[in-house]
Amino acid sequence: MNPKIWLSSPHMGGNERKYVTEAFDTNWIAPLGPNVNGLEEDISRYLGDNPVSHVAALSSGTAAIHLGLIVLGVQPGDEVICQSMTFSASANPIAYLGATPVFVDSETDTWNMSPVFLEEAIKDRLAKGKKPKAIIPVHLYGMPAKMDEIMQIAQQYEIPVLEDAAEALGSSLNGKMCGTFGVIAALSFNGNKIITTSGGGALVSKESAVAEKTRFLSTQARDTAPHYQHSHIGYNYRMSNICAGIGRGQMEVLPERILQRRANFEWYKKAFEGINAIQFVEEPEGYYSNRWLTTVLVNHDNISRESIRLALEAKNIESRPLWKPMHVQPVFNGAPFYGDGSAEKLFRDGLCLPSGSNLTEQERQRVADEVVNLFN
Ligand SMILES: *Cc1c(COP(=O)(O)O)cnc(C)c1O
Repeated sequence: MNPKIWLSSPHMGGNERKYVTEAFDTNWIAPLGPNVNGLEEDISRYLGDNPVSHVAALSSGTAAIHLGLIVLGVQPGDEVICQSMTFSASANPIAYLGATPVFVDSETDTWNMSPVFLEEAIKDRLAKGKKPKAIIPVHLYGMPAKMDEIMQIAQQYEIPVLEDAAEALGSSLNGKMCGTFGVIAALSFNGNKIITTSGGGALVSKESAVAEKTRFLSTQARDTAPHYQHSHIGYNYRMSNICAGIGRGQMEVLPERILQRRANFEWYKKAFEGINAIQFVEEPEGYYSNRWLTTVLVNHDNISRESIRLALEAKNIESRPLWKPMHVQPVFNGAPFYGDGSAEKLFRDGLCLPSGSNLTEQERQRVADEVVNLFN
């Protein structure tokens, strides 16, 4: 059997161990410490000053979305608008809070939230007597959503935006970083993301009070008192100083990782040049994707994305269908949905190819050979 080729595996830069060793040497083995503060500063600096980002390092991206919705005041019975085409972690925190997700379809330029159906959803929910509490657009696979249009609609109807930037650290739109559009954004450092802390995430906000409140809620919401005094329900969501050490090392190599992921995309595009049935999603003008995963759409009478996936699997190569939209997931059965079937079509035809920044030339060639063979 050929060695396994993973979809997206961790890729250490080298200095991660130095930060982790420092944590051991100084006994900062806790969900606080110099690496946690340092990582927050690294991320803030990386996101730039348009506007300045305040960062709270957390145990996961899911925790960031959960606390973000709490800070925005989402309560049981509320409605929250969410992109349908996404990973379930974008929507699950809505359910944690006893609120209802209202799902919005994708447009076909970026595969993200359609501004047209977003506005339709807002108008219809308002007509039904309920104003949505928040909007969650996602930058899928690193491609920025149409944030100019989405922010304009959000401002017009005065609904806050919580950007799910879990897949899009380093992506930008007209030079403005993903994660700096919404009043709140969530980042993820899970094992398969563009950089990883093994597991982890961060909440980003342009308001320092929001980051401050998030840190408070993520460390059990202790009031200032010598004894344990609580006026709020707290959570245990802070990032560990060990994981943050990995993150500090990873931040040093993030620019390189983005170039490596983007090189994968260009490489696959060239390798499949002769196959008309395979299409790539291009960056609209002004859009810059970190190309976290290289994705393709398969349009062929006899070869489906599933036949490609199975052929790769038979050769010990991991690939994956695009996210199955939330509005067709059994767990969200009955949730309101606004759209025209675009996300379902993307799910039917779309495949994620092995995309790690640590893929070798030979590994990419193994993937391409299998795919090209199928079409010959
Ligand atoms: C990974 C991911 C998350 C969740 O992040 P975790 O750190 O795994 O909790 C949320 N949304 C999207 C779109 C993701 O890809």
